[in-house]
Amino acid sequence: MKTKTIARKPVRTGKGSSAVRAARPAKPASRAQANGKAKIQARVVAKPVSKAAKVAARSAAVPIDADLPIIYVNGQMLPKSKAMISVYDHGLLYGDGVFEGIRVYQGKIFKCKQHMDRLYHCADQIRLKIPVTRERMVQIQRECIEANKLNDGYIRLVVTRGFGTLGLDPRRCPTAGVICILDQIRLFPKEAYEAGMRVIVARRPKTPIACLDPRIKSLNYLNNILAKCEAIDFGCDEVIMLNLDGEVTEGSGDNIFIVKDGRLYTPPADAGILEGVTRGFVMRELAPALGYSCTERTLRLEDVLTADEVFLTGTAAEIIGVTQIDQHDGNGKITRSTRISDSEGPITRALRLRFREIATSNSVPEE
Ligand code: PMP
Repeated sequence: MKTKTIARKPVRTGKGSSAVRAARPAKPASRAQANGKAKIQARVVAKPVSKAAKVAARSAAVPIDADLPIIYVNGQMLPKSKAMISVYDHGLLYGDGVFEGIRVYQGKIFKCKQHMDRLYHCADQIRLKIPVTRERMVQIQRECIEANKLNDGYIRLVVTRGFGTLGLDPRRCPTAGVICILDQIRLFPKEAYEAGMRVIVARRPKTPIACLDPRIKSLNYLNNILAKCEAIDFGCDEVIMLNLDGEVTEGSGDNIFIVKDGRLYTPPADAGILEGVTRGFVMRELAPALGYSCTERTLRLEDVLTADEVFLTGTAAEIIGVTQIDQHDGNGKITRSTRISDSEGPITRALRLRFREIATSNSVPEE
């Protein structure tokens, strides 16, 4: 399938660059039109109820009228403000679809092959036929890198069940939708990477494998989002999720590792986790190259609380240390706080720095 480009390629040389201006859609012809646009945008933001809510709403609002990045949507390259899908898409109506988060370092698609393997496998698991070949899917990502002139960024590939009827039946959605967004992402504050961060243990259990296997990276992330809300309620950025048997699984968007007596351990897939690409990279490449062994092992919360080091891994998170783990009672009270280390541990640091070295080198692995 050929890509239809409807906006000229922007060059990211600065705000006022003429190339960037060229990529912008035409200005509204009249003030009335401009007002109309403003009104439409105003209507999509819920009306804040108090002054504090107004301030919060303003800082939380994401501009929807920006032109960049240029985004691939079902065969077209569109400016952000025009990159839309149907309200009848089952990805929106039911979270019916799969996705990938992928890093671009030095213009290379980090571990591209593994992300493509996972995407096509997960689609298969939910009986979703991706309407483009793997080769074309990689080409789409390269076209986004080229169109946005971004050498370092984060790709969000989304494959939705597609346009259908209001019922659940996936057979009513004849063609899956494909979206590729290349943008920037930062999950945690920059300082947290050296200082380490505080996390909370979610009271909400992880969705059991028998209900929806967390190995499937589906668009259905409510279990993770609601767990993350527990962290937000206590002023931290991430949670540790346990399964129904009380075993440690992962964070809301990252995998967990512990270090004990110089060895690394991480929960196995049958605990109920996403088998992270970064997790695999740490286990199979990074840790062994630095002389550390890494084993998959069922972990109870006590194993994590008594570890020498704890860290999280993910495409967006990269590698980040955990220095404190809090537990709460579900009624707004912290019941136990466990200090793991004063800042990121030495092995976490070695892994993080080596990861950074690779991500900024000329040999970013795509395989
Ligand atoms: N677990 C969950 C629930 C995630 O959403 C992610 C992010 N994709 C991860 C783990 C880490 O996986 P990866 O290293 O492939 O990004």
